Amino acid sequence: ITIFAGKTVALFGLGGSGLATALALQAGGAQVVACDDNPAKNAEAEANGIEIADLRKADWSRFSSFILSPGVPLTHPQPHWSVPLARAAGVEIIGDIELFCRERAKIAPKAPFIAITGTNGKSTTTALVAHILREAGQDVQMGGNIGTAILSLAPPSDERVHVIECSSFQIDLTPSLAPTIGVLLNISPDHLDRHGTLQNYAAIKERLIAKADKVVIGVDDALTRSAVGHIQGEVLRVGLSDHERGSIYAESHRIFANRDGCTVPIADLAGIASLRGDHNAQNAAAAVAIALFSGIDTVTIARALRSFPGLAHRMEEIARRGHVLFINDSKATNADSTEKALKSFDDIYWILGGKAKEGGITALAPYFAKVRKAYLIGAASDEYAATLGSAVPHVFCSTLDRAVQQAAQDTAEMSRAVVLLSPASASFDQYPNFEVRGNHFRELVKTLPGVEPAMG
Ligand code: ADP
Repeated sequence: ITIFAGKTVALFGLGGSGLATALALQAGGAQVVACDDNPAKNAEAEANGIEIADLRKADWSRFSSFILSPGVPLTHPQPHWSVPLARAAGVEIIGDIELFCRERAKIAPKAPFIAITGTNGKSTTTALVAHILREAGQDVQMGGNIGTAILSLAPPSDERVHVIECSSFQIDLTPSLAPTIGVLLNISPDHLDRHGTLQNYAAIKERLIAKADKVVIGVDDALTRSAVGHIQGEVLRVGLSDHERGSIYAESHRIFANRDGCTVPIADLAGIASLRGDHNAQNAAAAVAIALFSGIDTVTIARALRSFPGLAHRMEEIARRGHVLFINDSKATNADSTEKALKSFDDIYWILGGKAKEGGITALAPYFAKVRKAYLIGAASDEYAATLGSAVPHVFCSTLDRAVQQAAQDTAEMSRAVVLLSPASASFDQYPNFEVRGNHFRELVKTLPGVEPAMG
């Protein structure tokens, strides 16, 4: 990256992508002064020729920019100290996506660049768009908040499309975000009262609408719907609710496009295991809108939807035993997410629990009638048992091992059932993260007698 050649920049966070950013800047002629509060990271960077200094004691007048690593949460103590220092010294605070945007503006300003954000469904939509474009034969680089850090991808060029998932935090650090297609999926009001989200929401809306050439916007929630009127560029509205001209919508699991007053059926999602549920219909509609904006024909789009493998840990069908499905929804770390899964299945044998979030599972009561039995694991067991009460038969299993054994036994004679791990809780009481929890579930299910891996 040559945009900071001859300049001195401060960088905080030397995890994989932070170090890659530091090295890319240095290779492009910048002097990087970096810091992490893990001494091993500092040592590794220093061994690679990066200058390490305590940024709280640094002379901030030296720096032209302060680059925050994408993995660093805003509440992190170190940036908490450094951010006011940077502000006081008038040093801009930016992230790696901003570096990409500036480099793109310099070397390939017309390079296709799709930026996807929203409260929910970012990763699914990003992965689905990348899949469709690849199936259409395009050279696709996918990353950002999903998978690979943006600066570890191949550089922008006119023949290559970048499909980038952006968290609202990353958008805050990306003042020059001006994608060819900007995508705002949804803004969940449930998340608005959480710290800082209102500003993030305003920032997301503003950036997406102000500077994208084309806009794809979800219209199923009031907050995004109210933004539609302000969009200057070409726009496609997506969701379940709007069937008017300029919308791509889902109805009874089928996706339709109405770009110019004439409705065209695009695809039938029924039978696509990786896109179950209304929330995925919304994600699929958004992906279809992006693909249409990208000039992909409807036949290719429909074919690509059918071959989408889905993302791990999100209502992922991992195995079958006869007509009994085993679903890994370990990513569901709150009631909101688990609600999507409970809505999407019937005859549910529900494995849940872990470290409870505020409100627990009380919001899920409307779906309790779909649950045949619940298997409680982890720290929240007593609290959840109280909420389930007499509405849902439940057993205390403590561990996932026991829960899987029990649920497998209980469904052994069933002609139809869904064994669903959708914990509605964080994993930290028993696992380092939701991925490890989901992978453990996968391993346990694999060893059950008579189980076949899912067809996908
Ligand atoms: P993100 O990357 O925004 O966290 P994911 O695609 O990883 O989103 O999906 C995470 C969870 O969010 C899913 O398991 C599901 O419960 C929920 N979800 C996915 N898409 C949507 C959507 N369009 N609307 C509401 N909730 C969704």
